[in-house]
This record gives sequence, C-alpha cells and structure tokens, in this order.
Amino acid sequence: MNAPAAPPEVRYSVCPHDCPSTCALEVERIDARTIGRVRGAGDNSFTAGVVCAKVARYAERANHPDRLRQPLRRTGPKGSASFEPVSWDDALDITAEGLLAAERRHGPEAVWPYYYAGTMGLVMRDGIHRLRNVKRYSGQYSTICVTPAWNGFIAGTGKLAGADPREMAKSDCVVIWGTNPVHTQVNVMTHAVRARKERGAKIVHVDVYRNATSEAADMAIILRPGTDGAFACAVMHVLFREGMADRDYLERFTDAPRELEAHLVAKTPEWASRITGVPVAEIEAFARLVGRTPKTYFRLGYGFSRNRNGAANMHAALCIAAVTGAWRHEGGGAFHNNGAIYHWNKTMIEALDALDPKIRVLDQSRIGAVLTGDAGALKGGPPVDALFIQNTNPMMVAPDLNVVRRGFARPDLFVCVHEQFMTETAKLADVVLPATMFTEHDDLYQGGGHQHIMLGPKVVDAPEGCRSNHEVICALARRLGAKHPGFDMSVRELIDWTLVNSGWRGLAELEREKWFDVQPEFEAAHYLKGFAWPDGKFRFKADWAGIKPHGFGPAGALPALPDHHAVIEESTEAMPFRLATSPARNFLNSSFTETRSSQEREGRPTALVHPSDAARAGVTDGARVRLGNTRGTVIVHARLFDGLREGVIVVEGIWPNAAFEEGIGINALTGADPIGPVGGAAFHDNRVWMKPA
Ligand code: SF4
Repeated sequence: MNAPAAPPEVRYSVCPHDCPSTCALEVERIDARTIGRVRGAGDNSFTAGVVCAKVARYAERANHPDRLRQPLRRTGPKGSASFEPVSWDDALDITAEGLLAAERRHGPEAVWPYYYAGTMGLVMRDGIHRLRNVKRYSGQYSTICVTPAWNGFIAGTGKLAGADPREMAKSDCVVIWGTNPVHTQVNVMTHAVRARKERGAKIVHVDVYRNATSEAADMAIILRPGTDGAFACAVMHVLFREGMADRDYLERFTDAPRELEAHLVAKTPEWASRITGVPVAEIEAFARLVGRTPKTYFRLGYGFSRNRNGAANMHAALCIAAVTGAWRHEGGGAFHNNGAIYHWNKTMIEALDALDPKIRVLDQSRIGAVLTGDAGALKGGPPVDALFIQNTNPMMVAPDLNVVRRGFARPDLFVCVHEQFMTETAKLADVVLPATMFTEHDDLYQGGGHQHIMLGPKVVDAPEGCRSNHEVICALARRLGAKHPGFDMSVRELIDWTLVNSGWRGLAELEREKWFDVQPEFEAAHYLKGFAWPDGKFRFKADWAGIKPHGFGPAGALPALPDHHAVIEESTEAMPFRLATSPARNFLNSSFTETRSSQEREGRPTALVHPSDAARAGVTDGARVRLGNTRGTVIVHARLFDGLREGVIVVEGIWPNAAFEEGIGINALTGADPIGPVGGAAFHDNRVWMKPA
C-alpha cells in the first residue's frame, strides 16, 4: 500500500485585495510555483480563521491560463487587441520613450501615473508615487473609494479611527450600516455573530436592498439610496423625544448638543419616512433598540457614502453613537476605518522628500474628463499625453465610462498597463507588462478594518515573465534618469525602513511574529480622553469648509448639523428610478471577474427590480431591459425582487464591458461629477429610466 501523500506545506500571507478585512491567510504551497487552498489564519484575532469564498479559491486565479506571462506591444489600432510579444528590455524601453516623448511635448505634468487598490500592499501599491514625485509627473487625488466616507467620519471624531472591531463580539447590538459584509468583509459577520451566540446580541442591517447581510440580521432597514442622513436624524429625534439621549455624555463630550436637539425637533419619523421610504414604526423600533442598548456598536461602511450627500450621511449616522453615549462602553461606539493608527512614514516608498506641492494634482474619478481635455479637470495645465497604470482597471471601474472610453481612444495618448490579466484597460494600451500576484512577492499591509500591521511574504515564484510593481518602477526609473535611494532598495529593505521610521519594530520581528497588533488602548480608541479636536468635543456641527484639499468639490454647500442633504439625483418623470451599483459576492471591483467559478456564481449582469415597478414598465422576470440616463445606456436582464423600495434598482457587481450586449458596462450610467465636500464618486446615486429592450 502506498503511504498517504504528505499534506502540503502551509505558508502565511495576507489578502491584498481592496477590502477592509485584510485577512491573515494560510496558503498551501504545492510546489515552487503553485499554491493550493487558501484559508483564514486561525491565530489572527480579527481574521479568526475565516476568509471569503472567492479568496479561498485563489489558486484558480493564480494558476489561471489567461494570466499575462510576457510583455506585449500593440500592433493593430487601439482596441483591436492585436499585440505581439516583446522582451522585457524592449517593453521598458518603449514605455520609457512614451513617457519621455509626452514630457518633451508638454513638460512632466503631461505624464500621469495612475493607480489604485488592486493590491493594498504599501510597497507594491504606493511605490508608483516614488517615480511620480521624482519625475515631477502629475499627482493623483484618489477619490474613487474612500473620500466622502473618511471625511464624513473625521468631521465628527477628528480622526480616522474607532472602537476595536473585535469588540463587536462583546456588544449587545451590532448595527451594520451601508455595507454588505457577507459579500465584502466576512470577518465583521464572524464577530457580530459571535456576540449573538454568546450574549444574545441583536444584529441590525441598514442598506438599500435586502441582501445576504440583511438575511443574517435580526432587523433589516431598507431605505432609498442617499437618504441615510434623514433616517439618522429621525432616529436621533426619537432618542431625544423619548429620553434616551445620554445628556451627561453629551454635555461632557460633544460640541453643540442643545443646538442639535432643537434642530432635530422638525426631523420627525414621519418626515424621514417620506424621504427614506422606511415606515415610521421601523424608524422608531430602530431608535428604541439602539437607545435602550448601551453597548451598541455602529459598524459604518462605505456604500452609503457613495452618494452626492455621502459625507453628510456618514457624519449623521456617526452622530447617533454620540447621542446615546455608546462610546462609553466596551462593545459600544463606532468604527469605520483605522487609517490613523498606523502613522506611516512613507518617505522612502513614495519619495515624499522629492514631492513638489506646486505640481498639479488630478482627480482620479475624473479620468474621463482629464483624458478628453476638460480644462477644469486638467487644472489649467497641459493635456495628459501618457498614462502609466498599475493596480487598477479604469475602463471598467471609473464612473462616466463613455467619456473614459473616448479618452482612452485618443490616438495621441500613450498608455502602458502593468497587469495580471488582459483587462479592458490593458486592451487599449500600447504596452502591456505582466505583473506578479501577492503570493509571488513580499509586501507590508495595514488592516483598514482592524488593527494589525502585517507582513505578506512571498510564498511561491512568479510565473516566468512576470515582474513585481517594485521591479518595474525601479527599471523605469533607471531608463528615465530618476534618482532616489528608494529605487536602489529591495522590497525587504523598504519594508524595514518604513517600519522603523514609522516608530514600529523592524522587519525581523515582524517576520517572526507575522503581524503586530497595534490596537490603541480602550480609552483612546473610545475617545474617552476627548475627541481629536482642540476642544476634545465630538462635532455635531461639521466644519466642511475646513476639509482639504480645496478645489475638488462643493465644500460650502453641506449642512453643518446632521440632515438630509437634498443634492442626490432624485428621480424625475423622465427618469423615474434610482440606481445603486452594489458589490457582487464573487467579484471584488474588477478582480475575480476573470475566474470561471466567480462568473458562474454571479450568472450575468442583472437588475433587481421591484415587482410593482416592473409591472408598470411592462417588464417581466428574466426579460432584457435597457437602463439609461443622460450619460449612457446599458442592457441587462431583470430579476423581480421585492427586497428594495419601489423606484429603486440595484445592479450588483462591476461586470466586464464585454459581458454586456453592447460592450459597455454599468459605469456608463454613473456620474463623475465631484461630490462634496472635496470630491468622490456617487456610484449609488443615479437616476435612470428603464424600458423593455
Ligand atoms: S474578506 Fe476581504 S480581505 Fe478577507 S479574503 Fe476576502 S477579499 Fe480578502
């Protein structure tokens, strides 16, 4: 009898994807180039042994036959997807010449290194700034994801940090607001469900449609997109009206409690019900639950901030925890992101010592306007004639996609894309460079949704032909004459330098321990020594005009006190529906749209339509429908679904353009107009019409 095969070696790693969970991973190493199963690390106190299904199947993505494995040069017209293989040296030479030619024509600001969060590793994601800053290329103001959410939270607390997310397990009520963690950050559910099992805690979900998280909750509030501020105000109205406001806490820890109370007198549940679509009884039941449960933990997500009033919505929801005094208690308070606790010194990764603040900064979300020569988007500077792109796929994920497509079609635009797959952006490039995946290089990570500094060590060798972002940036720097000590350092040296110069222990200790738990102590995390403003008070009166950078959004227009800020794209007679583009369970932005298992689980681009709306529009279940507005139209299939308010449509997931009949995806309908106070994209705030196709 043969001896049983030895189990595969298991190495630790970190999920690099654009998800606040930043899971600690255990990765099976089958051989020098092949990974097997991926599991959550059981000994990480936040990951707690759980990862999402799409990352558990990561081997399918890493070992995918369609992975890019050799550099390519375009041979046919733009968009023809005609490429020929070239050597790495030739590909880098062509790229360097493309960037230098743009610089010769219009100066260095004509080059725009464009990136985002395809990997969240600090070295591989942020190293592109080193090239940008040394070469004086145009800056990128990254607005596509976090801007309104972070500004809304900081407007209250003064700082992007909150109660330890592991405290959800010690809570008596976990409110999950504007996020769908069953789809997008599974560990939130781990801790919330533990609280329910061990302490009988209630789980409440607030969202624009009934989804997997609502199904797992004890109470689900379904509201119209962009009306969270109204809901929050009515909840606070009830808290004051029924004596559930913590007046001692309000006097000690907040800036204007009496002004807030007077302001809220008119914000009745009846008023909010008309705006949100949530019945008065549900608003009152929610208010009574959080008002009578001191240990209520508000886990505030990103989704509800992706409206034109998103920052005000985040601030309004956050205010509830200050009215109830939930911050006093372990298991209570609020959390959105822990970005402020890491205090990184990224001088070496990003060449911050070479940054010239006079160089123009362009809005990431307005890439379409930038590439099509909009003078305002170009900040009065030269055209962008060359793009060098890492870690993002704007031809799928950027808003106002028809304009983005026109920009990429420009014959005089040089584009180099460094990618793992032939994405829809790569198809429009002049040069395509094959990139490594996270298991194939070292990197350093921070938990946005928790409190760990983590090392993601290389597990296997990359496929022959793939190079890491760091290798490519350094190789381009040599060709472009860019000098900085960071270009001469290895990834491990950059990690060690960054750790030590940020006040943490160095790489050797991180490697030994796998991660550092850097959770601030309880009183600081709960702001019991004061909020992060000079007077130590939580701000009900937000200073929107004080938020920087100025010039990227309508800062002065936001209401100071929490309110329904009525700037959303309300439906009209011609466009009677409001569309939200929520995340799909098996995709993560445009990542995983290339794996067959994710495609099969998601099916096809689908509009969730309320049965009453469908009947009025003559749409039947499974029918092809055309959705449209002033920005474009798309064809999808309808699914009749009563888990949303009438007049609301949800299309889950960012499918590739090629998955749509007419070759243009859902972001043809979303707007790139900058939202208040200082920019961002309103992906869930779109009025549309719907017709049978
Ligand atoms: S839940 Fe998020 S961080 Fe965790 S494995 Fe999935 S995508 Fe990665």
